[in-house]
Amino acid sequence: MPELPEVESVRRTLEPHLLDRWIRGVWVYRPEVINGIPLAYDLLNQGRIKRLLRKGKQLAIETYDRRAICVHLGMSGQLYWQQGLGHTPTASAGPRPDHVHVQWRIEPDEAETDAGTGTASGLLIFRDPRRFGEVATFRDARVLLEQRWSELGPDALEIEPAELTRATRTTRRAIKAVLLDQRVLAGVGNIYADESLFLAGIRPSRVARTLKATQVEALCTAIRQVLGRAIAAGGSTLRDFKNADEQPGRYAQHHQVYGRGGEACVRCGGVLTVKTLGQRTTVWCKVCQR
Ligand SMILES: [Zn+2]
Repeated sequence: MPELPEVESVRRTLEPHLLDRWIRGVWVYRPEVINGIPLAYDLLNQGRIKRLLRKGKQLAIETYDRRAICVHLGMSGQLYWQQGLGHTPTASAGPRPDHVHVQWRIEPDEAETDAGTGTASGLLIFRDPRRFGEVATFRDARVLLEQRWSELGPDALEIEPAELTRATRTTRRAIKAVLLDQRVLAGVGNIYADESLFLAGIRPSRVARTLKATQVEALCTAIRQVLGRAIAAGGSTLRDFKNADEQPGRYAQHHQVYGRGGEACVRCGGVLTVKTLGQRTTVWCKVCQR
């Protein structure tokens, strides 16, 4: 499942294709994936793209007239760019591309020089084989920011020790469960929870309220560091993650614990433990994490 670094990689690779360009057509192949009204207008048709936003694992596109769509990639969703308009389908004709649910036609502004090259025109495609993803529509971006996104905790890239302390000091939950709670901090999933806890030297099953202030601080630093490095490497590709230019991420090669149960700890050489914790496969080192 794409976590913060993967979604941020999609956002960054989409930006050069979309910013300040116009949406000149929308095709909806599967209206069920749309939360809201599946009308072309609500899907930003004829809008000019102002910015691409992200909070946690959610991505949003806002137009200058303040409409917005929010895209949640779910388990296997992909939002990507296809250069050129050579194969633009119409809603009524042509075969439906595999697992493609929504497609937007993007064209340059008249002032932009796209003369004959077609480099600025293309399709923005939402594809989702397993259909856990979602496109939500907002007639006013403020509703997205002030309602839907306000239910999320602070973005994990910007988490401060004070915020994490508030969430940990009274709970009996395991620290890993706290990290996965999107209301506490937004963006961390199974991969980056395990990686951050390893870097901070904290056992995933540790009861959150027993952490010392210095450990909470170390954990915040570790979360930001792990996410920052993962973004720099374009995210982690386990099976099928690809950015908007259809390139896989390179961070999986740097995972210290995730997916390495039974292998040697990179720090002490001991065998990494793998167990199910709160229904999630969890890997840690019994020696290095306390
Ligand atoms: Zn170790």
